[in-house]
Amino acid sequence: MSTFLNPKRTVAELKELRQLTGDENGAQRVAFTSTWIKSREWLRKKIEGLPLEIHNDAAGNTWFTLRGESEKSLLIGGHMDSVPNGGWLDGCLNVLAGVEILRRIDSEYKGKPPMTVRLVDWADEEGARFGKSLFGSSACSGNLNLEEARVLQDSDGVKLPDALKNVGIDFERVKDSGKELKNVAAYLELHIEQGPVLLDLDLPLGAVLGTFGVERHAIIFHGQAAHSGSTPMNRRKDAFLAAAKMSPEIYKIAERSGNGVCTIGSCTTKPGIVSSVVEECRITLDQRHLDSAKLATMLAEAKAASEKFAKEGNARVSWERLLQIAPHPFHPELIALCDESIRETCGKSHQLPSGPLHDAAEVAAAGIPTVMMFAQSLHGISHNKIEDTKEEHLELAVVAFDKLTEKTMAWLLAQP
Ligand SMILES: [Zn+2]
Repeated sequence: MSTFLNPKRTVAELKELRQLTGDENGAQRVAFTSTWIKSREWLRKKIEGLPLEIHNDAAGNTWFTLRGESEKSLLIGGHMDSVPNGGWLDGCLNVLAGVEILRRIDSEYKGKPPMTVRLVDWADEEGARFGKSLFGSSACSGNLNLEEARVLQDSDGVKLPDALKNVGIDFERVKDSGKELKNVAAYLELHIEQGPVLLDLDLPLGAVLGTFGVERHAIIFHGQAAHSGSTPMNRRKDAFLAAAKMSPEIYKIAERSGNGVCTIGSCTTKPGIVSSVVEECRITLDQRHLDSAKLATMLAEAKAASEKFAKEGNARVSWERLLQIAPHPFHPELIALCDESIRETCGKSHQLPSGPLHDAAEVAAAGIPTVMMFAQSLHGISHNKIEDTKEEHLELAVVAFDKLTEKTMAWLLAQP
């Protein structure tokens, strides 16, 4: 570990932030609220002594730039915003680890690193208020759909463009944020895992392979309503029977796919009364995989199974797509560097995909070599005040992430 790095300071600052912006129900740094603004002002004070250029871009993302000998930039990212009643680490661990690394690089290279190093605090990663996550990073990557975002409202009926105006952001110009990526050559993000994989393996840290792609569909089985007393079992067109057979089937589909997951999250029936065979049964299916070909296979297998079960029950089936997100695999060489940094820090590493989306997915979609590092989550839980990570693991995360920063700088400098 570099003598200039002080991981204990990161833990102390996380606690200070929790004290300042949380209450008995958890973190309250919801984007575009006064508590969020307070957290960002606190962040600027923390970093005051460093020779950084600081500015907000057109989408409200804050950029901290330590100019180096080369324009080529290494970018570290995180988000200060939280969900309401959120955890104390989600998003801000990444930002505060980034602050500590900027301090280390500034001291190590006496204010002039061989390349430019930047830290970004993305605006509204969580989408807690308007239901649109990754706002700042998708504006920056260019993927934000302005038509869809323009009409988003919060629960009080406030439109997103009006809420942005209140904090000095012009909605029509948010994509100007994209010019910030001009010299960015690689992107690194540290995050808590928010799931139980590292906990179950008893490992502090893991290298993230990418974020899952998502296929989300409604599957509607069409049968025929019939009297529950007068209709013999062999004469029924039972939409529910066909739908129910999908449940064990998706477990087999997920297993065959390797690391994919499938969920039937809802089921509604018509007419939905005790004395009738089900005429129509609507279920929703959510499928996720890191590999787009395997995701497509999972979807095709579910479609084939639904046709088969419908036929067996004398019913029909139709499908409606609800959501589609492409997988964003991270850069193989950066994954290898991340793995190496973890092994050097705590002996053993593990590679895992990310189920949740992160700002890193947007940066990867913009074509920038990207990788994430995960720190173990106790209870495997996040978006909850009980979200936690052992302090020793937080410190290891800062050390390993700092090593990854140094290795990535060397990797970039070796490129023409
Ligand atoms: Zn997060």
